[in-house]
Amino acid sequence: MLRDLFINTIMVVAFTSVSYQAFRNTGLHHGLPLKPKLILGGIYGLLGIVLMLFTVRVNETVIIDFRNIALLLSAVNAGWISAAMAGFVISIFRICYFGASVSSAVAVMVIVLLTAIFSFICSFTMKLWKKWTLSVGISLIISSIALSFLLPNPAIRREALIYYNLGLSIAAVLVYYYIGYLEALTFSYRKYREEAKRDFLTGLNNVRQFEVVTGRIIQDAENQRQKLALLFIDVDFFKKVNDTYGHKQGDIVLKELGKILRQTCRDVDIVSRNGGEEFSVLLMDCSQSKAVEIAERIRKTIEEHPFELPGQRKTAITVSIGIASYPEPVKDVEELKEKADGALYEAKRAGRNKVIVSK
Ligand code: GH3
Ligand code: MG
Ligand code: MG
Repeated sequence: MLRDLFINTIMVVAFTSVSYQAFRNTGLHHGLPLKPKLILGGIYGLLGIVLMLFTVRVNETVIIDFRNIALLLSAVNAGWISAAMAGFVISIFRICYFGASVSSAVAVMVIVLLTAIFSFICSFTMKLWKKWTLSVGISLIISSIALSFLLPNPAIRREALIYYNLGLSIAAVLVYYYIGYLEALTFSYRKYREEAKRDFLTGLNNVRQFEVVTGRIIQDAENQRQKLALLFIDVDFFKKVNDTYGHKQGDIVLKELGKILRQTCRDVDIVSRNGGEEFSVLLMDCSQSKAVEIAERIRKTIEEHPFELPGQRKTAITVSIGIASYPEPVKDVEELKEKADGALYEAKRAGRNKVIVSK
């Protein structure tokens, strides 16, 4: 029997790991769209089937399984739609594989009842351990009533009830701790993946993300002949800010600058810190004249902004901006970065605190 219990635990661990792995980018939650919810319900339905096939043999006559855990996992992870899907898969298999009988009818009734109860409990916002304990407790009671009904022999019934309640409780505790571990693991994965795209100081896109996003957008713009403008922004004489106030204060200025850029542009525009005191803005669906207007607004806002430093001190900075816009005048979208860089260089040469458009 221990061997059967071990195999069942491994099955639950394997399926739970697969479901968390499959949904690692979005996480498992009740706000998932319909299709992923149904897929997840399908995965746990399959787990229920596997658990029914690899049962735990208590003695010559009594066999138990932990399909209720599969049902509970689907309800906890994604709510009633997943639970209903898992319950449906398990019920259909129970009838088709084991045939229509009184025990099949009781089994399906238990599954339907538990699907409704688990879904109801999991629809409330309460701590996972509370949902889990309540659901497992109710599941033990209902399954025990069903087992008592199906096993008239008192000795066999007693033995089955003891092993079922003990086995399911142990499995439930193990699975509870394991999903807690998987939840923490996939949360860290999503957090680190998000952080890998962000610049730690300003929270803007970092240069790697800038390359990825611009590559994609440039490709789309070329295919659809969509207007696009790229601004390269560089702080003027930033070295002086560092030399005067120190590197830490310089960081505060850069952080504030990032905030201003984010506030001056639309949500759809891609704002990045390309390195050091260099930033960029990719303006979506934007003509050259509109891009100049926005760049001038950015330049002026920064020029007039008092950057507050610790110790009641204030400083001012200016920026130079180079613009390249597609499809007019830059015909080849691949040249956008190079042209914006050239225009920025011109702005510096022209005396800084200027906006220059590439021809
Ligand atoms: P220019 O007008 O020609 O752009 O002059 P500049 O001084 O801004 O340009 P330069 O390339 O000579 O110097 C850039 C400075 O930016 C030097 C470097 O110390 C500073 N810098 C780069 N990254 C950071 C950073 O993360 N934090 C701080 N505080 N300073 C940085
Ligand atoms: Mg500079
Ligand atoms: Mg620079």
